Amino acid sequence: MRADVIAIGDELTTGQRLDTNSQWISRELAVLGIAVERHLTVADDLEDGIRAVRAAAKRAELLVLTGGLGPTADDLTRDVLAAVAGAPLELRAEALATVEARFARRGVPMPESNRRQALFPRGSRIIPNPEGTAPGLDVDLPTGSGTTCRALALPGVPAEMRVMWRDTVVPALLAATGGSGTMRFRRIKCFGLGESAIEARLPDLVRRGRDPLVGITAHEATITLRIAARGADEAECLARIAPTETVIRDCLGNLVFGVEDDEVEDAALVAVAAAGGSLATIEAGTCGHVAALAAAAARRRGDDRFRGGEVLTPAAGEALATDGLALWAERARHARSATHGLAVGPVEREDGGDVVEIVLVGGTAPVRVRHRLGGDATIRLPRAARTALDLVRTTCLAGAGPTASAEARA
Ligand code: AMP
Ligand code: MG
Repeated sequence: MRADVIAIGDELTTGQRLDTNSQWISRELAVLGIAVERHLTVADDLEDGIRAVRAAAKRAELLVLTGGLGPTADDLTRDVLAAVAGAPLELRAEALATVEARFARRGVPMPESNRRQALFPRGSRIIPNPEGTAPGLDVDLPTGSGTTCRALALPGVPAEMRVMWRDTVVPALLAATGGSGTMRFRRIKCFGLGESAIEARLPDLVRRGRDPLVGITAHEATITLRIAARGADEAECLARIAPTETVIRDCLGNLVFGVEDDEVEDAALVAVAAAGGSLATIEAGTCGHVAALAAAAARRRGDDRFRGGEVLTPAAGEALATDGLALWAERARHARSATHGLAVGPVEREDGGDVVEIVLVGGTAPVRVRHRLGGDATIRLPRAARTALDLVRTTCLAGAGPTASAEARA
């Protein structure tokens, strides 16, 4: 099956906002074995929309659309689909009841304009939206040569779109492609090695066509392994995911720091807590990224393991390098009554590249890493900060003293 993905919205065509839905949907379609041929982005205009959708329906077997399902006058996707389908819009009582119930739960009267969200082209199917008022549409469009092209239209809000995708679209597409059941994912998060080095440690797991499928992506030096499993129901999917997760954990050991939305800084604070400790930071070369990440994680987790951090000017950073970082890390932890002190030195030139030194004190002996700053300007500091926080994680996990892996990297 070949698909086109269509994003609808003036905010996209005018460059106000990036179309991330098409990227996400295309990855999801790939997991289902559906190849995406084209991405289209279309303005909020009835005639433009009709032209684009009609032409796409002639070429593709499946269209996935996002955006334009809201209640306002510029939300035209349902009108576009009705026009291309050649079917009148009719009010669906069950859809109206759902929209009304949402407003009733919030205790506000439903604006008249929201009635539009209960309009569906005759013969189309409703894609329920558990997260918002805009239901999606599942409608067959004529291709012009006697066959039909299936169009699935989802709201533009990414969080709503993703839930509807998982709950309704995936089972529908599995059924359409000759399968059945549903699909579930598990994300395993790793830090400490590059993408290809991680892959090399996983015997033949990241292979197309494997079942469950394992995908690997990198973002700011965090590597995510995503396990995708099909099954009759959620329980079967999870049962199929578990053995693959075990293999990954066995192969990667401490490189795995968490799952799903966990970040390195969350895992660092968890490890500090498990060691019965607390953390204070001082940094020069990372411009406050270490403190910002740790503070955000502390807030997410609602704990007080992060006791605060100090950010130095470049000039003060030079003094930090001269005195020796371990001394400053000691001062940082004493100043904030923390068990562990983490210091990041100023950026130094070394062998034609930029390097920062990172020192953690609080165990038996200071643990050091020299980190080479790499990548573009937007990611090199967050990446260095995460490297520092990962040193906290691995060191605390191994007890008070330096770990074998931290020593190897130092
Ligand atoms: P709509 O369904 O057109 O009312 O879209 C609602 C909101 O979802 C928009 O204001 C955007 O913030 C967001 N949105 C719409 N389309 C996309 C897209 N293709 N990628 C990311 N966000 C989007
Ligand atoms: Mg819109």
